[in-house]
Amino acid sequence: MTNRTFTMIKPDATEKGSTGGILQMINEAGFRIVAMKLTHLSAEKAGQFYAVHKERPFYGELVEFMSRGPITAAILEKDNAVEDFRKLIGATNPADAAEGTIRKKYATSIGENAVHGSDSDDNAAIEGDFFFSKLEQF
Ligand code: ATP
Ligand code: MG
Repeated sequence: MTNRTFTMIKPDATEKGSTGGILQMINEAGFRIVAMKLTHLSAEKAGQFYAVHKERPFYGELVEFMSRGPITAAILEKDNAVEDFRKLIGATNPADAAEGTIRKKYATSIGENAVHGSDSDDNAAIEGDFFFSKLEQF
C-alpha cells in the first residue's frame, strides 16, 4: 500500500465549485484515481475521522466545518504517493502554501483549506478503508 494515499475535497471547495479544478491538478500531477465518491459526513463521522485532533482547541470547529456539506473522498495511486501528495496540496495554512499548490490556489484559511491529504502510509490505508470497501478500491 506504500503507493497509495487518501484525499478529501472539503466542503468549502465543494461549495465554490472547485472540485473539477482540484481533480484536474491531481490528475496532472500523475495520480491515478483508485476510488472516488461524493458524500456528506455526519458530525459523528467527521469527529471519528479527525479523532486524533480531539484535544485540540479547533476540534469542534473542524467537525462542524467538515460536516456542513458534501465532500469528495478519493484514494490516489502514484509512486511515493503520501509524500508527493502532501507536496501537491501545500501547507495547512494557505498563507504559507507554496506557489503551484492546491491550497495556494483554492484554500481560504487554515481551517477551510480545500483538501485533506494523509500524513503516512498507515493512515492512508486506515482513511481509505473508512470510506471505501475493498470492492470499491480499484
Ligand atoms: P489535513 O489532515 O486535513 O490534510 P493537515 O494535515 O495539513 O490537514 P492537521 O494538523 O492534520 O493539518 O489539521 C487537520 C485540519 O484541522 C486542517 O486541515 C484544518 O482544516 C484544521 N486545522 C488545523 N489547525 C487549525 C487551526 N489552528 N485552526 C482551525 N483549524 C485548524
Ligand atoms: Mg492531517
